[in-house]
Amino acid sequence: MRQSKLFTKTRKEAPADEQSKNAQLLIRAGFVHKEMAGVYAYLPLGLAVVEKIKSIVREEMNAIGGQELIMTALQRKELWERTDRWSDEQVDVWFKSELKAGGEVGFGWSHEEPIGEMMKSYITSYKDLPLYVYQFQTKLRNELRAKSGVMRGREFVMKDMYSFSVGEEDHTAFYNATMDAYMRVFDRLGLGDDTFITFASGGAFTQFSHEFQTICTAGEDEVYFNREKNIAINAEVANEETFAKLGVTEADLTKATTAEVGNIFNFGRQKAADLGLSYKNEAGEDVAVWMGSYGIGVTRLVGVMAEKFSDEKGLVWPEAVAPYLVHLVGLNLEDTTVRDYADGIYAALKERGVSVFYDDREVRAGEKFADSDLIGLPYRVVVSRKTKEEGKFEVVTRATGEVRMLGEAELYADFDANPET
Ligand code: ATP
Ligand code: MG
Repeated sequence: MRQSKLFTKTRKEAPADEQSKNAQLLIRAGFVHKEMAGVYAYLPLGLAVVEKIKSIVREEMNAIGGQELIMTALQRKELWERTDRWSDEQVDVWFKSELKAGGEVGFGWSHEEPIGEMMKSYITSYKDLPLYVYQFQTKLRNELRAKSGVMRGREFVMKDMYSFSVGEEDHTAFYNATMDAYMRVFDRLGLGDDTFITFASGGAFTQFSHEFQTICTAGEDEVYFNREKNIAINAEVANEETFAKLGVTEADLTKATTAEVGNIFNFGRQKAADLGLSYKNEAGEDVAVWMGSYGIGVTRLVGVMAEKFSDEKGLVWPEAVAPYLVHLVGLNLEDTTVRDYADGIYAALKERGVSVFYDDREVRAGEKFADSDLIGLPYRVVVSRKTKEEGKFEVVTRATGEVRMLGEAELYADFDANPET
């Protein structure tokens, strides 16, 4: 991609009303556009990050047997009434509207009820189970406060998965497989060391649920953790009873501010019983399905990564999610011989399958370097009159600041995505 063709521009200042670091950086670098508080559009660079996170999540969900689908944003009131979750007293984040044809609809803030209802069309016998489905969906939530940038949106992308099992044993096996898959996701995003499987309040069916909490000063949660024992407890349930149950003492634990990046729940049979979702067992009896739900905050992760992977100059994307691997920064491009040379290097990198963002604009070098630091691609490669004359490319690793001087062949070898070409 040529930077001169990208419609977004970097900005020196974030909007005055934007307080959070993640949104400030993402807006200044042109990854997101703020539509209103808690509502952000994803621009080409930001969308690329979202899609890369989604791909990683998708691979891991498919690997444990998940089947992808997409549910609707508009939801039936009557379904949520059945589980007593339509009223604003029960669920305080509803957006609701009226149909012109008459009747109320809700805007999907979650999809347990519609997905459970839909499964009545597909689950009849124990032979249909287990079954796991997931989606990437834009959830709409009327959050009272939206001060954490993209980390708490009124509109945000979630991966939500739902499991349907015959009973507890099968459910637990999948629940545990999901925990492992989630940790693989966070490892691949470079967040694994700072992300803890955290005991949190369980709700009606289990004593605890599990949250995935990532250490992040901009987060809204507090956890007590111990790395050696690999245990973490949400402050909400951190009391003597919990400590005793989990075999830890307060002295073992360190407190940290965290962001909840994922969350998994065991519903037992109750949710399906409320919805009337049952299967026939081998004896021909009707049994309510055992359900679980499993969320990952995809766009919240963009915010968490912007918070954690950034410095005073801007964003510092890990390779796994960077919109491009290489920022090829052309200097002295007003000289057409240099421009032709730089264009040639750009073409050669692309031909080798390297994901490259080419700053082909005729602006000052200082501005180019500042933009490059702000956007934060993993490697910056400078191509200039000097490069053309000396055949050496300056390659800077954004995360470490390491500078290397590479010849043309070495440069291609360094970024070669397709060694056979
Ligand atoms: P929180 O405790 O942060 O309000 P939640 O417990 O309501 O979140 P779930 O409904 O289980 O969260 O949603 C699954 C995941 O979606 C969460 O773990 C979080 O990562 C993400 N998420 C929830 N609410 C938001 C939001 N308003 N903006 C962005 N991501 C969100
Ligand atoms: Mg929560």
